[in-house]
Amino acid sequence: MKKEKISIIVPCYNEEESLPIFYEEITKIAKEMKNQDFEFLFINDGSKDNTLKIIKALSKEDERVRFISFSRNFGKESGMYAGLENATGDYVAIMDADMQDPPSMIKTMYEDIKNDNYDCVALCSPSHKDYGLVRKFFTNCWYKLIGKISSTPQVPGARDFRLMKRKMVDAIVDMKEYNRYSKGIFSFVGFNTKWIEYEAPDRVAGKSKFSFWKLFKYALEGILAFSTTPLVISAVVGLIFCLIAFIAVIVIIVKTLAFGDPVGGWPSLACMIMFVSGVQLLFLGIMGMYLSKLYLEVKKRPIYIVKETEKENIKEK
Ligand code: UDP
Ligand code: MG
Repeated sequence: MKKEKISIIVPCYNEEESLPIFYEEITKIAKEMKNQDFEFLFINDGSKDNTLKIIKALSKEDERVRFISFSRNFGKESGMYAGLENATGDYVAIMDADMQDPPSMIKTMYEDIKNDNYDCVALCSPSHKDYGLVRKFFTNCWYKLIGKISSTPQVPGARDFRLMKRKMVDAIVDMKEYNRYSKGIFSFVGFNTKWIEYEAPDRVAGKSKFSFWKLFKYALEGILAFSTTPLVISAVVGLIFCLIAFIAVIVIIVKTLAFGDPVGGWPSLACMIMFVSGVQLLFLGIMGMYLSKLYLEVKKRPIYIVKETEKENIKEK
């Protein structure tokens, strides 16, 4: 009988320190799982250090190692998409190179998928122990908010670390949107997912590539991609303001007719104008954000651009 193949996708951006450790660990696991074939698909996301060199060396030594090297840094989302699009396995896993997604878990994930007939086994680490207090606070608020305003459920602390069956991978690859928010996409495509809770260990080497600002933009991406509630709120608030204005006009007319027209109240008028124009600009901004996403979507720019793959590397041999 033909062995089942597991593809391991690893997006890498400046991971020269972590990669050798990761490779050693994952090959150990692959050795233990004798009845399955493996493919390691490294995505070099425009690294500026020796990441590509290391990957190339690995791919020359080990034919299970494949790679796709981007022409520049496209971001982890693009890396994951390139991996999913090019993986050939019956099962596909996405893992970080920094050992925060322990390779040893692949074994139990595979067993869970096989025995309990799940389509996907995913990991979540809701404790966020490597986050500072501020980041933790905003992260918790964000999960509460998205839970309320989006119909696509989000599991708190969900990582991108997951093992999926081919059918689910194909469904994700079919979602070719440019503004990718994979945590939402995974949930959107459905299928049976088993969630395993664990505490993500610290990075084995190097620094996190996600600054507070990058995470903030990523969180905003999640809202814009999976909820249109902000637009509805804009419309509802606009309507409420119209109603208030209408009532105010009637009150002023009645007051003027009853008591004459004393000139006064301009400071409050100035405050009101400023407040209302502020609200207008805010909602215009919200609309603009959706419009900018639409603009980029319509352009149909590529999600990633390949500079080289393991095929060229073999030729160089
Ligand atoms: N990564 C990437 N492109 C980027 C940023 C990160 O491919 O632009 C990879 C990175 O090499 C790592 C994974 O995505 O394998 C997760 O990144 P990181 O550990 O920095 O994120 P954190 O775990 O802190 O959220
Ligand atoms: Mg990490």
